[in-house]
Amino acid sequence: MRRLKGSRVQAKLIEWVEIAPGVRHFVFEAPQLERLEFAPGQFVSLSDSVGSKNITRAYSIASQPGNGNRFELCLNRVDDGAFSPHLFDLSAGDVVNMQPPLGTFTLRQPLRDSLLVATGTGIAPFRSMLKAVLQADSPVFTLLFGVRHESHLLYRDEFEQMVREFPQFRFWPTLTQPGPDWTGRTGRVQMHLAEAIGGRSDIDIYLCGLQPMVDDVRQILKGMGFDRKQIRYEKYD
Ligand SMILES: Cc1cc2nc3c(=O)[nH]c(=O)nc-3n(C[C@H](O)[C@H](O)[C@H](O)COP(=O)(O)OP(=O)(O)OC[C@H]3O[C@@H](n4cnc5c(N)ncnc54)[C@H](O)[C@@H]3O)c2cc1C
Repeated sequence: MRRLKGSRVQAKLIEWVEIAPGVRHFVFEAPQLERLEFAPGQFVSLSDSVGSKNITRAYSIASQPGNGNRFELCLNRVDDGAFSPHLFDLSAGDVVNMQPPLGTFTLRQPLRDSLLVATGTGIAPFRSMLKAVLQADSPVFTLLFGVRHESHLLYRDEFEQMVREFPQFRFWPTLTQPGPDWTGRTGRVQMHLAEAIGGRSDIDIYLCGLQPMVDDVRQILKGMGFDRKQIRYEKYD
């Protein structure tokens, strides 16, 4: 079957699991495709009729390439949102429309030591990237991940497993509202940037999350003298 770039296909929900309060990990497949081709960091656009409107929203792919036509998303339910509550109402087997993967929020080549900064569901593209690239001889990757509560450390077990497996992977979660038992980093990601960068100027930096964090961190990095080319970012809003 001939498929034009950008043409719409279906995305069928296979299953979902709640991974934090109000956050779900979704497994979809694209039944009309044999393989979903994408680069880690790219997003799909899902669309459907909600009430009388057709609504489209972008979602970063959270899984690594190579799972045939299956892919995974990590979604926050925005309570008064137009589309995310609709996706949370889907049951296994339900279908929405999808525009195949797009986006330039991908890893620069050649790979070099990198800092990945995420807040909330901004972790999704980094899960894809890390699953795809971490191996014995990969460069150093530091994941600085900010959330409010410990229960919102999405995919924590997976990242902790990556730390055990790959000595060059550093996982730095930080909480803005830590419980009494939390002994790790606290405060916003901005507070830990300088330590994560460690005086280096020869690294790439990737930012993903809502606009206030991304804009603020870009400003800080600019002040530190980082070149625009060294910084890639994806804003969710
Ligand atoms: C390239 C790209 C990739 C994206 N990837 C993801 C993803 O992997 N997971 C994901 O949950 N969202 C992602 N988003 C956001 C997503 O497209 C929607 O904006 C989000 O689901 C809200 O849509 P809505 O129609 O429910 O809310 P709307 O009615 O559009 O309301 C928008 C409000 O929701 C807020 N908002 C948007 N995204 C989030 C979020 N993730 N968490 C909290 N508040 C949010 C905005 O600040 C705004 O106030 C991505 C956006 C872009 C542009």
